[in-house]
Amino acid sequence: MPETVYILDPIHPAGADRIAAAHDVITPEQGTSDPRIEATTMIVIRTTDLPQELIARMPNLKLIVKHGAGVDNIPIPFATSRGVMVCNTPGGNNSTAVAEGAVTLMLAVLRRVREMDAVVRENRWDERWKTRLSDLTEAKVGLIGFGRIARYTAKICGAGFGAEIAAYDPMLSPEDIRAAGATPMDLSELLGWSDVVSIHVPLTDSTRNLIGAEQLALMHKGAVIVNTSRGGIIDEDALAAALKADQIGGAGIDVFEYEPPRPDNPLFTLPNIVLGPHVAGVTEASMKGMALACANVIDTVLAGERPATLLNPEVLGQRS
Ligand code: NAD
Repeated sequence: MPETVYILDPIHPAGADRIAAAHDVITPEQGTSDPRIEATTMIVIRTTDLPQELIARMPNLKLIVKHGAGVDNIPIPFATSRGVMVCNTPGGNNSTAVAEGAVTLMLAVLRRVREMDAVVRENRWDERWKTRLSDLTEAKVGLIGFGRIARYTAKICGAGFGAEIAAYDPMLSPEDIRAAGATPMDLSELLGWSDVVSIHVPLTDSTRNLIGAEQLALMHKGAVIVNTSRGGIIDEDALAAALKADQIGGAGIDVFEYEPPRPDNPLFTLPNIVLGPHVAGVTEASMKGMALACANVIDTVLAGERPATLLNPEVLGQRS
């Protein structure tokens, strides 16, 4: 029996075509005004906010599949109250892509890629030695959150660049962190120790504004901060102030409190920052992998099996 699957955001054709071959699909272009929307039984979603009101319009909804890891755009308690399963598709190519994205930003800031590019294009060759570039080799890299993406980042920085790795993750035991090759530290210690800080936590009540003026003040002059996790974890005004005052050396920011960020975002005018439009995890391999992973979750649920990435297992009791 085909399902009515609303693919709310564009996904790689490898997954979209597989889902469409077996089910009745509402595409992102058809959207919420499609007459079949009330018949939706499954949603596939990327980063668009999913309003409760939309879920409420779908009495037969049984599954929401997140294309990716972070589920802060999905009202999970509301879905749970309606017996709707919520699954995500973390790991694999998505984790390696974000880790690569984080290291790209680290290097772009440390090597001042934007400024060096401008020196060439603007015919200012003689200025090329005025700016001192920094190294990732043998740097002290502090990771906030030590899950899948952070561990790949640790691997690239540690094995590739000989960096020393520390991690702050209060959900893990110090032994677990040590066993994975990093030195466990509390947040203040890590901020003061690191040459490069990279953030890899989900956006939750405990991580919102985790890094504000007080925390940035603990970082040493010249240190760099990179955020490829979620906007709202670093206070953007505080970061702009710290960069402006040369209190820290630079920042690489892929995610913003409001996306798209407002044109008057204070970070836009600063030279020592490299920005990305929330694409750290958006590579061809990662998009294909996640789209296929979404199709796999649908197949697993239809086979009557429990998906390995079910985030609200309490619904299983409600459904039986
Ligand atoms: P994960 O669940 O494997 O790891 C997250 C880690 O954060 C866990 O080890 C957890 O214990 C830790 N953590 C939770 N709360 C914490 C806190 N208050 N302080 C410190 N540590 C805390 O997740 P992941 O797959 O590594 O993904 C991490 C985040 O990256 C996702 O939640 C998502 O928001 C973001 N992400 C961004 C992109 C992008 O394109 N920029 C793509 C994928 C994921």
